[in-house]
Amino acid sequence: MIRVRFAPSPTGFLHVGGLRTALYNYLFARHNGGKFLIRIEDTDRTRMVSGAIEKLFEILKWCGIDYDEQPVIQSERLDIYKKYVKELLEKDLAYRCFCTHERLDEMRKLQIAKRQPPKYDGLCKKLSKSDSEKLSKEKPFTVRMNIPQDEIKFNDIIRGEIKFHSSLIDDQIILKSDGYPTYHLANVVDDHLIGISHVIRGEEWLSSTAKHVILYRYFGWTPPQFAHLPLLLNPDKSKLSKRQSDVAVEDYRDKGYLPSALLNYIALLGWSTEDSQQIFEINELIEKFSLERCGKSGAIFDAQKLLWMNGEYIRKMPVEELARLSIPFLQKAGFDTKDFEFLEKCISLEHDKIKLLSDIPHLIDFFLKNDIIYDEQAVNKVLKKDGVLTDISEIYSKIKNFTAKEIEIETRKYAEVNSLKTSQVFHPIRVAVSGRTEGPSLFEMLELLGKDRVLLRLKKATQMSADK
Ligand code: GLU
Repeated sequence: MIRVRFAPSPTGFLHVGGLRTALYNYLFARHNGGKFLIRIEDTDRTRMVSGAIEKLFEILKWCGIDYDEQPVIQSERLDIYKKYVKELLEKDLAYRCFCTHERLDEMRKLQIAKRQPPKYDGLCKKLSKSDSEKLSKEKPFTVRMNIPQDEIKFNDIIRGEIKFHSSLIDDQIILKSDGYPTYHLANVVDDHLIGISHVIRGEEWLSSTAKHVILYRYFGWTPPQFAHLPLLLNPDKSKLSKRQSDVAVEDYRDKGYLPSALLNYIALLGWSTEDSQQIFEINELIEKFSLERCGKSGAIFDAQKLLWMNGEYIRKMPVEELARLSIPFLQKAGFDTKDFEFLEKCISLEHDKIKLLSDIPHLIDFFLKNDIIYDEQAVNKVLKKDGVLTDISEIYSKIKNFTAKEIEIETRKYAEVNSLKTSQVFHPIRVAVSGRTEGPSLFEMLELLGKDRVLLRLKKATQMSADK
């Protein structure tokens, strides 16, 4: 039975790399008819950020990544971890360490000065069992794993055989003095007890895996299969960082990316189909995903490509859905969104131009506002004292059926009769009614604005051009 997990630490926001890990686990589970579980790794109390767990679930829900079973919360399982630490102590596979922070700092400084890799010197390993037992009643202590002196090997589905010499591995702390286990111990105990079949996580955990493999061996457990996903990189190949693009999934949500586009893009950061297909709905991702087609080399996070992809998804989306999704963005910009049908019509005129949901308020604001803001340059360049707007007002006031078609016929006729280029007529009308030089198709825009508003704005603009 395939059972995988996403095991975030609630230390802040969900990083796009974290979302990639969650997504690959999810796709792998759903593809294979297995289970996708969530485990909250909250044993490092110093790094906890309040509200992070709630935010994490909110983001997964927004992405549509659903999970099976009750999430496991590590901080609620301290007794379980203690039991396993005790077992290792009894078998001499771990030992208590009473060294103070000061001593450890001192030791590290000395090692660095001597250009040695910083590593615990094993002082407390020499304590007899009875001394250690006695001291544990008097002094705070941590528990360290006793690392064996040999080669640690394991197989990685993506990277093949991985070898580490254990001389490179420190006697890891597995239980801290505050009684909480460290990541390594809790992670291994839980993956085993919860029956995880495949551990799929980022490459940055590869060296931890060597320690985990030792723990599996110490407990006499069969390790799960491992798959370490490639690093995410900035376009300049450095490690993906906040300085070069947004890394928090919530920032993408708040900027108006669609979860479907974001998941599609993220899915391609380390995985591809043979024919390099680019656009996938989630069901197609589930159907086609495999760990065998994941690559080893770093994947470049290209924000421009993500933006393009979001635009593709928005273009394919029915207007009604787009209008519904735009509501929070319009409300945030201070617009009244009660007239949903009108909103749909405005959006449909600008559909092709929208790349982000957050583009929508700006693109359609002149439909929604009474007092439009005129772009000064447009006014200076386009609005002239040549009487066009006054004539057009006159003509429009006489159109009974104020439809795009009628308006177009009358407007073109006016240009022809007066030997004007259409642009000499169309441009000033556009600026007059919308305040800007660009926008949706002119006549449809006029129809949607309605005769009253159009006449009012033409009048105002005539005034403005006369004042020039
Ligand atoms: N808690 C680790 C993290 O924050 C989990 C790593 C793992 O999947 O083992 O990413």
